[in-house]
Amino acid sequence: MAIRRTPLESWFLKKAADAGGAEPLTRTLIESYQLQKLKETLALARAASPFYRRHLENFPAEQLRSLKDLQAFPFTTAGDISKNPLLFLCVSQDQINRVVTINSSGTTGRPKRVFFTGGDQELIRDFFRYGMSTLVEPGDTVLVLLPGGRPGSVGALLAEALERSQVRCILHGFVRDPRETLQIMAGQKVDSLVGVPTQVLALARYEAPGKKSFPVRLKNMLLTTDHVPRAIVNEIERTWYCRVYNHYGMTEMGLGGGVECEARDGCHLREADLYFEIVDPATGEAVPEGEEGEVVFTTLTRQGMPLIRYRTGDIARFVPGTCSCGSLLKRIAPVRDRIGGRVPLAGGGFISMSVLDEALFAVKGVIDFQAAVSSAGGADLLTVKVQAAVWAGEEVNDLVREALLSVPVIAGNIAKGALILGPVDVERSQKIRAPAKRIIQDLRGKE
Ligand SMILES: [Zn+2]
Repeated sequence: MAIRRTPLESWFLKKAADAGGAEPLTRTLIESYQLQKLKETLALARAASPFYRRHLENFPAEQLRSLKDLQAFPFTTAGDISKNPLLFLCVSQDQINRVVTINSSGTTGRPKRVFFTGGDQELIRDFFRYGMSTLVEPGDTVLVLLPGGRPGSVGALLAEALERSQVRCILHGFVRDPRETLQIMAGQKVDSLVGVPTQVLALARYEAPGKKSFPVRLKNMLLTTDHVPRAIVNEIERTWYCRVYNHYGMTEMGLGGGVECEARDGCHLREADLYFEIVDPATGEAVPEGEEGEVVFTTLTRQGMPLIRYRTGDIARFVPGTCSCGSLLKRIAPVRDRIGGRVPLAGGGFISMSVLDEALFAVKGVIDFQAAVSSAGGADLLTVKVQAAVWAGEEVNDLVREALLSVPVIAGNIAKGALILGPVDVERSQKIRAPAKRIIQDLRGKE
């Protein structure tokens, strides 16, 4: 079957047409649209945001003659936002419809606040509507396992976007009781699901392999809000024979950042609303096309709180070339790690959550885990606590150990005597935790 072109292309053309551009979509059209929007954003930020008035004092919009020229402009960091988010506003506070508070995991500990006007929220709905049409069609029922209780929340905006495509949306919120969620999936004839990877994995592994008490018939699924381990995608596709699509985004981007097409070879980026760069995290210089680095973005259409060269802390790379769906819209490969999420080991190399995810979620029955590195004598000690399904047998402990030992950097460090693998602690419980930031705790020097 032919691969359908990403619907984000029609979305881009519609937005470019509003801005005076014309078909067909070429990189030249995309980039000239982006340059025009970048200039508008820089002018707005310098004129209306007290932060950017100072920050960009010596960087007038006229200095931008090509997209490349943006590389000379200063970055914006999460720390800048937490210091005084109100200084970023380009509108008066009564024009703000929604404030999202993000608790920072950084050293400042101060939360970040991100502001959206009604117009900014409309941009989100519009992107969601087109992005979701990759996996839903009119008449479908979608179960959204994301918070949606408050107006302007991610679930609420998604539901409003789906209504416009005549898609029925059930706003469920995070999964708490897997049995109840599975009953809804079966009873309401849910076609597609939007959720967080570990939460959906816990649903997929609620019943022992081969047991199917819930007649679930999923066509597609969108996984979001975390990096998406391949091992989880494989298990979900095996359990429900559905297609899993990846979404990339964060609140600061205006929730959505990009979504995979049917080729599922990287997320097509939201290029009409965001300009993306990948830079070397140490030097801040652009990396060669296709190489890994930190994701940096600039908003192109946001009015309330535009962000210029915002450092996301995500490590990823662009996928070079034209997608096999035929689209020239840029793609980003799945985010694997975050800066600071890679824990260096005494014997060389590093481990990260994504490395452990691929190893441990491949073990049948594993639902979630926590990992910590501490010191033991002169060596590192890796401790792993696993949550397994209640049906998982005694062999889980050994399988988890084997999986850890199959990770080359772990095996290499153990062989050098630089790493000790602590006893694997397995708790059997089907209780699903609320999604939290998943990081390896580095306790060395803190004990
Ligand atoms: Zn594509």
